[in-house]
Amino acid sequence: MEPPRQAAWMIRKIFHMRKFWPMLASQQQLQDRGKFQIKCAYKILRGAVTTVPWRGLVCHNVACPKHVFILWLALLGRMRTKDLPLKWGMGINGTCVLCNNQPETIEHLYFECTYSHEIWLRILQWLGWQRTILDWGREWNWVQQHSKSKNPRNVLKACFAAVVYEVWCERNSRVFQSKTVTMDKMIHMIQTNMCIRVRENRNLFDTICSL
Ligand SMILES: [Zn+2]
Repeated sequence: MEPPRQAAWMIRKIFHMRKFWPMLASQQQLQDRGKFQIKCAYKILRGAVTTVPWRGLVCHNVACPKHVFILWLALLGRMRTKDLPLKWGMGINGTCVLCNNQPETIEHLYFECTYSHEIWLRILQWLGWQRTILDWGREWNWVQQHSKSKNPRNVLKACFAAVVYEVWCERNSRVFQSKTVTMDKMIHMIQTNMCIRVRENRNLFDTICSL
């Protein structure tokens, strides 16, 4: 069957693709409980995918998209920390600008650095957690493990994303603009941001306001 002459480009494309469907899947594969399901077709077209272990941290995170984006980069190991240009042989000062004490690496920034360590510790205390902060790999794993429930404490991973983002911004503003923000101001910024982000979710908002 040919598409109508006046049909839009998209409709023509759909008509064209129809002949490929029998090659892609059987009727049963496209059905769920006897009914055609677009999600079945989507999964077949998409093919098999591998999931990353930190998927739960970036999916369904109520944090600002820019916070989640920077968290995603950090989890992928794509942050341009100073250890990279040093490996390429560039003669730069590789010391962390937040503590001026240790070489800057992703593991140092999150959360070996005394600056970021203190911020994350105080945000955790604000959320009601009293615990020892672990290294980067074990810390994001812990956050993911404790963000699975529908408990209002689900702001945990949003706060984690906010801390990762704000620490990175502070590092950049010290490196490129020689500007600094006090720790108290940064913590206040993160807390305010969380209140704004969750204001449409009554449970989360009430929890945050009661902290
Ligand atoms: Zn440091």
